[in-house]
Amino acid sequence: MIIVMRPNATHEEINHICDKVRELGLTPQLSRGVHRTIIAVIGEDEKLMVKPLEAFPGVDSVVPIQKAFKLASRDFRAEPTEFDMGGGVTVGGKKIHVMAGPCSVEGREMLLKTAEAVKQSGATFLRGGAYKPRTSPYAFQGLGEEGLKYLREAADTFQLKVVTEVMDPRNVELVARYSDMLQIGARNMQNFDLLKECGSSPRPVLLKRGLSATVQELLLSAEYMLSKGNFSVIVGERGIRTFETATRNTVDINAIPVIKAESHLPVLVDPSHGTGKRDYVLPIARASIAAGADALMIEVHPNPEEAKSDGPQSLRLPQFEALMKDLKVIAAAVGREI
Ligand code: PEP
Ligand code: MN
Repeated sequence: MIIVMRPNATHEEINHICDKVRELGLTPQLSRGVHRTIIAVIGEDEKLMVKPLEAFPGVDSVVPIQKAFKLASRDFRAEPTEFDMGGGVTVGGKKIHVMAGPCSVEGREMLLKTAEAVKQSGATFLRGGAYKPRTSPYAFQGLGEEGLKYLREAADTFQLKVVTEVMDPRNVELVARYSDMLQIGARNMQNFDLLKECGSSPRPVLLKRGLSATVQELLLSAEYMLSKGNFSVIVGERGIRTFETATRNTVDINAIPVIKAESHLPVLVDPSHGTGKRDYVLPIARASIAAGADALMIEVHPNPEEAKSDGPQSLRLPQFEALMKDLKVIAAAVGREI
């Protein structure tokens, strides 16, 4: 249920309604738009039926939200979400942010080298996994906290933000200490304890779409974090499983305008995991920007032949530089910048 306030509703009237909602054992969640304030009611909102809230001063209407997700919906917030991460980085605005770096943090030197190169080419975030969700238990699992330290050092040296995956709810605080944005990987998109823990973190979150998840399931997972009060969420399309075997996954380009229509949250596309082959990363990155993506995640490695994970899809440093130059043209063509 959402309570739509009149455009001229006063602070007192808004606060009064919030108090009434709390009295019913429900939680009010405010969205202050340019023209009016909307109050979403979190909880078993049938309880609202017992109070004729429409009759209260300042209330325009009380409307049920038809969508399964509420806070993530455009009904709740009409304007696109933008969040400021400090240091001149605003996600969801005109600038398309590129998050680049190796699949796994493999060591200090390779990370410093990669960070310097991606910064030079125009990336704003350094990516790299310190905790890796590997299909095989025998594959490299990541450097853990040591990897987080390398990420922080490399990002600070070259004025980049850190985005890195957290897999275990017990590690959210630790990963948040070293990073600027928490990443929830595709395999953990419905790890509900992890979603709740990230929802209570002060860090923004990149939530990647599960391998076989629908857009609605993705937005419901985002809703977990919004319902905990963390609205700084970016949702990521990283390719889904289809019958096609020519590429690692199939990037669902449709998902970009669909998410934009249904939700106010910014959208990231990861053409590296989406295609699994470095030759296809540029064309899919181009298509993603043209379709409205707000950010891209690209795997880059100084020596992909030696990579501990995802070498075949990792761009070499000069290839990343060329990609960034190319994407600037596409971004400008759709009124954005990189
Ligand atoms: C990653 O970005 O490191 C990763 C493992 O991606 P995904 O969760 O999309 O597979
Ligand atoms: Mn990878």
